[in-house]
Amino acid sequence: MVEQTDSRKLSPAMAQFHRWKAEHPGEILFFQMGDFFEMFYDDARTVSRVLGLTLTSRQKGADAIPMAGVPVRSADQYLKKLVALGFRVAICDQVQDPKDATLVVDRQVTRIVTAGTLTEEDLLDRGAPNFLCAVHASAGQRVGLALIDLSTGEFLVAEAARADLAEALSRYRPAEVLVAESARDPALEAVLLQHERSAVTARPDWQFERASAREALAEHFRVATLGGFGVDDDSPVVEAAGAALRYLAETQKTALAHLNPPRLDAESERLLLDRATRSCLELTETTREGRKDGSLLFVIDHTVTALGARRLRDWLFAPLRQVAAIERRQAAVEELVLDRGACQRLRERLRGVADVERLLTRVVTNRANARDLAGLRASLEAVPALRQAIAEKNAADLRALLERLDPLPELASHLRAALVDDPPLALREGGMIRDGFSAELDELRGIHRDGRRFILRYQKEEAERSGIPNLRVGFNRVFGFYIEVTNSFRGQVPADYARKQTLKNAERYVTPRLKEYEAKVLSAEDRSQELEFELFQRIRARVLEQLEPVKKTAAALAELDALYSLAEVAALHGYTRPLVDDGGALEIEEGRHPVLAATMGASQFVPNDCRLDGATRRLAIVTGPNMAGKSTYIRQVALIQILAQMGGFVPARRARVSVCDRIFARVGASDDLARGRSTFMVEMTETANILNNATAQSLVILDEVGRGTSTFDGLALAWAISEHLLQVKRARTLFATHYHQLIDLAAVFTGVVNLNVAVREWGEEIVFLHRIVEGGSDRSYGIHVARLAGVPRAVLERAQAVLADLEKGNPDLAPRSAHAPRRAQGTLFEDPAQALCKEMRGLDPDAMSPLDALLKLREWRKRFG
Ligand code: ADP
Ligand code: MG
Repeated sequence: MVEQTDSRKLSPAMAQFHRWKAEHPGEILFFQMGDFFEMFYDDARTVSRVLGLTLTSRQKGADAIPMAGVPVRSADQYLKKLVALGFRVAICDQVQDPKDATLVVDRQVTRIVTAGTLTEEDLLDRGAPNFLCAVHASAGQRVGLALIDLSTGEFLVAEAARADLAEALSRYRPAEVLVAESARDPALEAVLLQHERSAVTARPDWQFERASAREALAEHFRVATLGGFGVDDDSPVVEAAGAALRYLAETQKTALAHLNPPRLDAESERLLLDRATRSCLELTETTREGRKDGSLLFVIDHTVTALGARRLRDWLFAPLRQVAAIERRQAAVEELVLDRGACQRLRERLRGVADVERLLTRVVTNRANARDLAGLRASLEAVPALRQAIAEKNAADLRALLERLDPLPELASHLRAALVDDPPLALREGGMIRDGFSAELDELRGIHRDGRRFILRYQKEEAERSGIPNLRVGFNRVFGFYIEVTNSFRGQVPADYARKQTLKNAERYVTPRLKEYEAKVLSAEDRSQELEFELFQRIRARVLEQLEPVKKTAAALAELDALYSLAEVAALHGYTRPLVDDGGALEIEEGRHPVLAATMGASQFVPNDCRLDGATRRLAIVTGPNMAGKSTYIRQVALIQILAQMGGFVPARRARVSVCDRIFARVGASDDLARGRSTFMVEMTETANILNNATAQSLVILDEVGRGTSTFDGLALAWAISEHLLQVKRARTLFATHYHQLIDLAAVFTGVVNLNVAVREWGEEIVFLHRIVEGGSDRSYGIHVARLAGVPRAVLERAQAVLADLEKGNPDLAPRSAHAPRRAQGTLFEDPAQALCKEMRGLDPDAMSPLDALLKLREWRKRFG
């Protein structure tokens, strides 16, 4: 809200401010005044509070207007903070050269900066997309999503069941979500709330109407339906796409020519990894501390460019599902693995490649500077050598890249001729254009350069004429050229000198000749800066003409870098090419955990085999003491599956991997305590998700599931879950558990194998071998582990004794059959000895009559006897 102001008292600039502010009540208005963006009234108070800027005032006294400002040059850093805090900023630029203004400079809101529409490199994470996501819930249970990364031009559309919206949002992690005003029902709100990373922006309902959406699509892509992109006419995706386009048109106010046509993100084509799975497998960050190092991506990311980093991340989030596509990528990786020289050349040449996708966006939206174009030039100039490095390769994917990598030699040589090697950021201060590119510019610069010589000559002449040895010709912004004479020679000043300025020790003068010269030089300088800006605009237009081929090359560069990275990690860590098929088997020989093996060194890591299939080895129960390596083992199997479906090599001596449709990985709640969100409810919600969605093509990784509740509850659940996965879902499953009772499943069902982690007992000590062996372990070695942890000897001895008692006196505690869990629970709660002791302690014999005592005895005999 802008405070009431008497418009008669307003300066023309402030009147302008109020006009623009009235159009942008919901945004902070950055109002350009020369070198600053100024904010007024509430905007000024807000930014001074949240950014710690000094609150000043424009005009004094009763008319004082609260004001705060940031330099235009460093505005980005303030924008970044404001946007991160959920604010939106309208940029009101001066769109006219102040010299041409009559009363007041023309200003216009040229852009609205929001979290989902950022394009500046400094404001973005280089290795991740920045999605704007429009969500449209149709009358049915389907939700349409349109995702646009304005910074790269990527445009995805996807459909999801309403119940899966949270999952879909978590996959794309949009920075901003658009919803129709009236669609903000409680269910949707709840989902959006979970995504505290996203700003939520309500948009007018009409923008989500079908007719309006069609119109927006027609305007932008000249299509009336999305049929050509694989989207059904009645899909809610249409409305979402239309609304997203309208929002961009409104906030960007510039052409969006670089947007790719929408691409349907079809779930059926890739390996699905839901949020819990990505987190449990630590694909991009560790679960406990959220660190990037320690994640799979950190280990496999050897990309050189930002383009490649984003592409590899894409591949990790959405691995392939078609055997043929996987094999094509593998073939490309293999050729690179075998040719280390080529890899080295790729690495060296990729270093010169800039973030072409994002710089193109800036070119299109007219936010590019000369350095961006120089980055494009360097990237294009790297292409011939990159092509050279893969020219001899046979893999289909590499041949295809060769086709797509266009070095655009004409554009590259134009940029080379036009721009200096290392151009400045500023667009209007000159210094961007190379000598020899424009005759007119060279001439103007000549005048300027000759000026230096002129000054030196003139200074010498005047010194000789006046006999003042230290006479100096200088220049400053306010007074222009002057002749400076120190006070001691004041008497010798020639008569034609006119005094201009008095300093402490000297006087400054001008002469008609100097004035005349000054006019010439200054106008040449002005003109040359203007001319450079014009030339820059023309160069930019040349780039725009080549937008499509440049985009194509950028996409090819991204893919080449990602392939290089897969080859590099394979070569560095000795990965092998897995055999990928649809056969239903998973066979890994000497597999390693990619992250742990890389951190502790491959020689320290104990490799392990895995053999699962769709028949007799569907469910593996992995038992063994705490800290033995169960969690590591089951995760390493899942990570190998993912790497294989990315088309990469895997950390194993040999592997045969069947393509999966989904991987589910879950950790029991108590293992997840550090995150503070570990309720048993979460654990069961996630488990329910598996039980509902797993198929015979899925890989399921369960780590101590059932642990979040009491022992017998948990054991019973673990048992029933295993049964269901085995019998109904028939999914390949690895279940690491400390419930060693689960090994009895193998006795009851076919398809179950027992694995355990070998330990060697050494007297009272145990040594972890980290080696997975066939067979169940029927002990949990808890007391051994307690000893390792330094629990006092007396306690350990007592525990040992209690354990012996329990095992002897109550064999039901270690159930040995399928029905055992229920029986065990029953007996535990009515342990007769305990119950009797308890009752006895509750009696006071001194207060009892002999008859009472006798009756009590008889009762006990009846109950416990
Ligand atoms: P569990 O789940 O059985 O309690 P973890 O899988 O968490 O055990 O492993 C515990 C620790 O043992 C790991 O942090 C790691 O240091 C070590 N470890 C696990 N597996 C291996 C292995 N194969 N080779 C070497 N060290 C391992
Ligand atoms: Mg564990």
